[in-house]
Amino acid sequence: METSGLVEKYNDYRNSTLNLQASENVLSPDARMALSSDMASRYSLNLDGHNAYGGTGYYDNILELLEKNTKKLFGSKFSESRPLSGHIAAETSLLSVLEHNRNVMAVSEEDGGYPGYSGGHLDRVLGYTFHPAPYKNFDLDYDILEQRIKETGTGILVLGQSMFIKPYDMKIIEEIKEKTGIIVIYDASHVLGLLAGKAFQKDALKFSDIVYGSTHKTFFGPQGGIIITDDEEIYRKIEENTIFTTMDNVNLSRVASLSVAVEEMIKFGEEYAKNVVENTQKLSFELAKSGFRLMPGSEESKTHQLLLDDKFLHSKGFDYYTFSRKLEENMVIIDRFGRLGTQEITRWGINDMGKVSDVLCGISNKLNKTEEIKNLISEKRLKFW
Ligand SMILES: *Cc1c(COP(=O)(O)O)cnc(C)c1O
Repeated sequence: METSGLVEKYNDYRNSTLNLQASENVLSPDARMALSSDMASRYSLNLDGHNAYGGTGYYDNILELLEKNTKKLFGSKFSESRPLSGHIAAETSLLSVLEHNRNVMAVSEEDGGYPGYSGGHLDRVLGYTFHPAPYKNFDLDYDILEQRIKETGTGILVLGQSMFIKPYDMKIIEEIKEKTGIIVIYDASHVLGLLAGKAFQKDALKFSDIVYGSTHKTFFGPQGGIIITDDEEIYRKIEENTIFTTMDNVNLSRVASLSVAVEEMIKFGEEYAKNVVENTQKLSFELAKSGFRLMPGSEESKTHQLLLDDKFLHSKGFDYYTFSRKLEENMVIIDRFGRLGTQEITRWGINDMGKVSDVLCGISNKLNKTEEIKNLISEKRLKFW
């Protein structure tokens, strides 16, 4: 088929590039095998303790293993691993707590929050009022947070961001939660792998009612979502709101692939997550040494992300978009809105951030770095599986 030729080209092309896209990762061969298994075209409907479809025995074993291992990995009492994406995990979770209160506060898109929570997206679909969280210096503005929550009648606070470099002060969140009775949700889409590997915001689940996120950004899984909680009542609602509400069939092959990823995380997650954060810090240091400026105040990132500085790029004759295009011409991939991520190159075993920095700086100075990039790419060896 004509498509197959394009898929082959796509694979060869992606294999020959260096991916610094902050929201992506690479699957291990085992996870990839599960994703393209026979399960990819099957049905499952787990209702009232039995599966309404036949031929699902081994799949049911996998789902059970996945839920058991997810709870072990995150130390949570309950988990729901079937959501088809991070967005659907968010939708399912919010739907399960909105009865409590229809005023939802989250970090706004302008401040690096997830655009899906506001602007006529989930707020319109689920019928809640969105309130932007007070924010400064890449963190919540704790001085006025409680007051803002009270003023707006906020009952649900969603933490977590798409541009995310600092952990929150969960002790303050816990105090506000006690005083105001709000429900705290932690959207860990970007940092789920770092959370699982205990290299970032170790206290997220302890101080939140629900943690959810994408399984394919810093986590080792295929595209999808996951929800964890210690609250049985909330969990029952989430279960109710999954099948026939936010989805029907669950994508069995995704469940199998995620189950492989969770096993990999249990085994290698801590080593990987530590390695990712160290590489972010090393890359930041190397870039600074070469005069490549990051967004002021974001240099001390504690996650996989580094944020580019548009003013600095302008001084080099680029904006976010044209710099990304220029990198892509040179086989280096980043998004078009100013983020870099170290998670995928870390999984590929690339730890010499001096070389990565040299390539980025070189391209920003319009130098030819083809040889250096080829060398880096030839060093790719998949780790942590
Ligand atoms: C990516 C992201 C989502 C949506 O996740 P998908 O898996 O793309 O559906 C939600 N919240 C945040 C903070 C994100 O970064």
